Amino acid sequence: MSPHRCRAEVDHAALRHNAAAVRNAIGKEPGIIAVVKADGYGHGGPEVARTLAPFAEQFGVATLGEARAVRAVVAGKDILILSPCLPGEREEVVREGFIPVVSSTAEAKAYAHLSQGKPARIHLAIDTGMGRIGVWQDDAIKAAQAIAAIGGIEAESVSTHLPVADSDAEFTAQELAAWDKLVAQLRPILPGAKFHALNSAASLESPQHAADRVRPGLALYGISPLPVFQKLLKPVMTLKTHITLVRDVGPGRGISYGRDFITPKPMRIATLAIGYADGYPRQTSNRGAQVLIRDRRCPIVGRITMDQFMVDVTDLPRDVAAGEEVVLFGTQGDEEIAVGEVAAWAGTITWDILTRLGKRVVVEHVHS
Ligand SMILES: *Cc1c(COP(=O)(O)O)cnc(C)c1O
Repeated sequence: MSPHRCRAEVDHAALRHNAAAVRNAIGKEPGIIAVVKADGYGHGGPEVARTLAPFAEQFGVATLGEARAVRAVVAGKDILILSPCLPGEREEVVREGFIPVVSSTAEAKAYAHLSQGKPARIHLAIDTGMGRIGVWQDDAIKAAQAIAAIGGIEAESVSTHLPVADSDAEFTAQELAAWDKLVAQLRPILPGAKFHALNSAASLESPQHAADRVRPGLALYGISPLPVFQKLLKPVMTLKTHITLVRDVGPGRGISYGRDFITPKPMRIATLAIGYADGYPRQTSNRGAQVLIRDRRCPIVGRITMDQFMVDVTDLPRDVAAGEEVVLFGTQGDEEIAVGEVAAWAGTITWDILTRLGKRVVVEHVHS
């Protein structure tokens, strides 16, 4: 069997470790909605859901298609669809018993019209500052009263989503204090509804606001949005490729498109079997980015191209050759490159790096 050129190894023991760490942070009571949208942040949605099922009260996905994929492996658990469904998707959502997010009484009524026999369950989103979906907080009580009066639906849960949980502690504290007050007012209007607000950052930082459930995503994959909590978590994914070629290159030679990098001296340059089409961000070009070979950090030289890029292996042993393993992020020996470093080199966030892996990357699940 030929080896995979690019491989994302997914460590399921680390997934379980992280779920246990979230449980430990929030205490015994709140339920965990394991967020497995975007194919489990690139780790494989159904496989991740299967491993996290013992820890999760519900699963959170972004789309109807993702809900179907998760349902196929964890039949008994409720699945919350966190992005608004399209009008044409609603009929299947109700028929299949997925729980769709609703941002207005009009949207709630549309689901009520589709209910047959038992009420359609919906999830009411409140906008407390995110500015994306939901009923604006000042209108929340009126909307909840209106929804309570509609026959044919049941508000299974009510939530908000925090815009700056990992970057503005003061805004978030005020937002959560106001949210707690609103929850107390909404509970009698929607008896039985579960309330939740906390993403990964807030689940770790402000678990006292967990209410009935929390909605962690990134933390389950072993990355803390807030560096102080990173020690509690284990990164789940290691992204690997191979050297395809090693060349000795003279001084004054341009490396890659644009000739941004000109060899200042004779160098050994390794070419790798990965490029931006595989999800390694092109924006890392000429930003001091590194990869791991032989447990050592090697600098990327020249621009990232679609299928390949080059690294400086001048200081590595002479026997480094084609076929050798390269780690883009994750650990190799005693060295580690965190996903966050790649994100910083690319000028983006860790969520973006994990969810952009290309179709040529083979995801390999390690269950030890
Ligand atoms: C993606 C998402 C989450 C999870 O966010 P993390 O920062 O990855 O924990 C939670 N809630 C909603 C509504 C989301 O869209």
